[in-house]
Amino acid sequence: MSNEDRQLPGFIMCVCTGKCPGFQKMDIWDFINQVRVELPVEYGFIHPQLCEEDGDRFLADFLKSHRKVIIGACAPNMQRKMFKQAFKDAGMDLEQDAVMLDIRDMTNEQAISVVKDALKKLNLLEE
Ligand code: SF4
Repeated sequence: MSNEDRQLPGFIMCVCTGKCPGFQKMDIWDFINQVRVELPVEYGFIHPQLCEEDGDRFLADFLKSHRKVIIGACAPNMQRKMFKQAFKDAGMDLEQDAVMLDIRDMTNEQAISVVKDALKKLNLLEE
């Protein structure tokens, strides 16, 4: 099946308000542009603080599409705690429908490599 035939995941990068030291090694704009233009995702964008109340409201709207999502943000265990309910409320399963990636304290190259590995596991990129 080619990537045109299958539903591609959305990619959300969360940058912890943009002030967090965890994203200072990276040019977040170069990173998200590379993800959305070069990698097999339906779209990619930056959210400022996904675990805040407006982030919950955003996820409630966004997950209505039931599209799988890759979340590039903080540690998966933290994401798990913060997003589980939003996925449940949308009738989705966080473990099945989300790929949670920790991309803090990385250069662009390192973070892109983490995203590529996740896409390979989803069979959307060749090994
Ligand atoms: S989801 Fe993670 S990366 Fe995003 S604001 Fe919350 S703690 Fe920071």
